[in-house]
Amino acid sequence: MILSTHAVTGAVLATLVPNNPVLGFIIGFGSHFVLDAIPHWDYKLKSSRRNKLEPLNNDLIISKDFFKDLLKIGLDAALGLFLSILLLGAIRHYSILIILCGAIGGMAPDFLQFVYFKWRHEPLISLQKFHIWMHAKSSLKNRPVLGIFCQVAVVVLVFVLF
Ligand SMILES: [Zn+2]
Repeated sequence: MILSTHAVTGAVLATLVPNNPVLGFIIGFGSHFVLDAIPHWDYKLKSSRRNKLEPLNNDLIISKDFFKDLLKIGLDAALGLFLSILLLGAIRHYSILIILCGAIGGMAPDFLQFVYFKWRHEPLISLQKFHIWMHAKSSLKNRPVLGIFCQVAVVVLVFVLF
């Protein structure tokens, strides 16, 4: 899923434990893998190199494209933080600390994937294996409209449920 969806979901779930930022982070972190297990759409990263036979060998190549991708990723993460703070801080008055812990926890596994691409050592190898294993095998890759709609639906559902 895209980072915004992970951020808002992590933040919403973290507000279930408003006085425990560490647990909030852990809950956000865990929610990432549950969301990834749902078939979903992701935007394309031009610097991404996928190895279908051995996903552990996937990589992000640092080149000109990478900096364009970084902008995309940065905007996505910033939107996630903005929406989390708006929905939970401004409207529901939760502390910024718990919101940020949940949102950053929700996004962290994808940042750790990048660290893994550049530094393939434990415990990142095991985490990457787990990430790949949890990740939905089918995707809405060629259906961006449905894909985006589903992500918005997930955020609304999580927000309403919790
Ligand atoms: Zn992920």
